[in-house]
Amino acid sequence: MQYLSTRGQNEPVTAAQAIKQGLASDGGLFVPGEIVAVSREQLNNLLGADYSQIATTILSRYLVDYTAGEVQQCVTGAYSVEKFDHQDIAPLHSLSADIHVLELWRGPTCAFKDMALQILPHLLTIAAKKTGEKNEIVILVATSGDTGKAALEGFKDVPGIRVVVFFPEKGVSAVQRLQMLTQQGNNVSVIAVQGNFDDCQSGVKQIFADLDFNRRLNANQYRLSSANSINWGRLVPQIVYYFSSYLKLVEKKQIRMGEKINFVVPTGNFGNILAGYYARQMGLPVNRLICAANANNVLTEFIKTGIYNRNRDFLKTISPSMDILISSNLERLLFEMSGRSAGKVRDWMQQLQEQGRYEVDDNIKNQIKSLFWSDSATDEATIQTIKAVWEQYYYLMDTHTAVAFKVFNNYKNDTGDSTKTVVISTASPFKFNNSVAQAVLGTAAVAGQNDFELLEKLSRHTGWPIPEGLRNLDQKTVLHSGKIPGDGIGQAVAASLGMG
Ligand SMILES: *Cc1c(COP(=O)(O)O)cnc(C)c1O
Repeated sequence: MQYLSTRGQNEPVTAAQAIKQGLASDGGLFVPGEIVAVSREQLNNLLGADYSQIATTILSRYLVDYTAGEVQQCVTGAYSVEKFDHQDIAPLHSLSADIHVLELWRGPTCAFKDMALQILPHLLTIAAKKTGEKNEIVILVATSGDTGKAALEGFKDVPGIRVVVFFPEKGVSAVQRLQMLTQQGNNVSVIAVQGNFDDCQSGVKQIFADLDFNRRLNANQYRLSSANSINWGRLVPQIVYYFSSYLKLVEKKQIRMGEKINFVVPTGNFGNILAGYYARQMGLPVNRLICAANANNVLTEFIKTGIYNRNRDFLKTISPSMDILISSNLERLLFEMSGRSAGKVRDWMQQLQEQGRYEVDDNIKNQIKSLFWSDSATDEATIQTIKAVWEQYYYLMDTHTAVAFKVFNNYKNDTGDSTKTVVISTASPFKFNNSVAQAVLGTAAVAGQNDFELLEKLSRHTGWPIPEGLRNLDQKTVLHSGKIPGDGIGQAVAASLGMG
């Protein structure tokens, strides 16, 4: 299988090349030449399989230039109980017969980014070997908090690879900040940017597009790649858990094989929910994909009206990993929805660049509406939801998951749909413990306490253990202190690679 650029001006490449390159040279994103089909019989054959077996099956179908042994090796290296604190890797927790929560935060950094970033270093190392890469690979990461830590943890001390992470100085939680600033490893840099996530992401994208800068990098024996969800190597592992959770529901006799279910996905860069879209197109019985947004509700508006408009204030919310106004992966959906028209995608992306907005035609609008549904939740509603879910089910949700749960309630009220539903849970409640503690313990109980005291307090109150990766964070040594202005990303990359 070949991979194509959504903008049509990068020649088709192998999976290994797409993963190594990250972003296509024309600024587009790589997509598979065709979407793999999984038949009902193949789905049946996966019943009873464990996460690694399902991952191996799905990944082999897309990474056709990797040998079966190589895919197996990547999967085994990533999804083990040494790395994940649950034997199911992505356990499904049933709140009721109709509502199930898929916990994607059992990995080392306590957010769903681990599902892909634990395996990406393995995929990339093999990709470099297969394509005869001689240069050292430099992974540039723009993060709204979770990707940065997950990339650092996945890539630390991997030979032949360097990692440089940029995060918005004021856009991450105290726990997220310390997770990154205390990162060990001989190949990692972490830099705070005086700007928001979009500044970080635009700065990194500019470097990818800067031919002179790339020539300079090559002269110094470096080559850029990406660990953001623009990289196909990030997307493809995420398809797996849509399948594994579906199969789990069949195994638990919660649904019949073939019965359609909904997925609710807390969405920012549109990577997670896009993997759900691919799973559906591959043949997984999915009814609706429900896109949950916070107050930065660009995607909700787009799904409702067909107008994408980023000309608005960037709002800081208590679900910071979804504080995004430019959802990169939407480009992949637009490519599919437009009948794979690279020309149309180029037009829209140019309009987005120049005017900050674009509008799709009625046909595409209607297609999107038939697959997706979207709404947003305010911070206040998010806090109330955490509290209500805790009181009703004794189940602790983080802020992002609570946005999804709230939007799911809105969906049920609006549509009356009673299809069984999986709510995707993207972070441990201890990762965003300040808001979670406030919701569960009340504002008065949290006043004047720092986030690390609150971790303990929340754990004592709920009886839920603090995950390994978040324990004693405030006692670890801070190893990174770089801080740069919003437009200083290029310089910072050069400096951290010793290029002056
Ligand atoms: C990254 C992230 C999201 C958003 O996922 P996208 O793939 O960017 O849509 C949601 N919740 C958490 C906790 C995240 O880390």
